Amino acid sequence: MTCPEKIAYSNRPDANAALEATIAGMKKRGDQSWKRLTMYRCGQCFKYHVGHLRMLREPKPEQAPKPPSAGELRRKLKRMAEDWQRHDDHLRKRRAAELGKLIDADRTWFADVAKAERIAQERTADFAESLRMARTMVEQLFS
Ligand SMILES: [Zn+2]
Repeated sequence: MTCPEKIAYSNRPDANAALEATIAGMKKRGDQSWKRLTMYRCGQCFKYHVGHLRMLREPKPEQAPKPPSAGELRRKLKRMAEDWQRHDDHLRKRRAAELGKLIDADRTWFADVAKAERIAQERTADFAESLRMARTMVEQLFS
């Protein structure tokens, strides 16, 4: 892990020298924040940085989070509505897909029933035909 936004020094003497030079420059410019400037070992890149430690910073009076503006709230509501719309579309598509499967299943079922009916009708017709032939044969034999 590196800290690209900060200058990193690989050792303490180099970082101290940089700290001294920075403080000297700030004093020359009349920048009072040199008092909070320090050199520290970074927990992220494990090198040394020169900077203002967060802990040393005086707390600002306006620390409370700013309430969202009407515009921000409107944008948030719009985002929520868009998310909802997307979710709704997704559910609709899924329902349509399920309905499609159901319709296909129904069609298959109806086709199977129709086929079974046709077979039953053919068998009934065959049976009726057999009976008719049997009657004819009986009539021919015994008349
Ligand atoms: Zn770092």
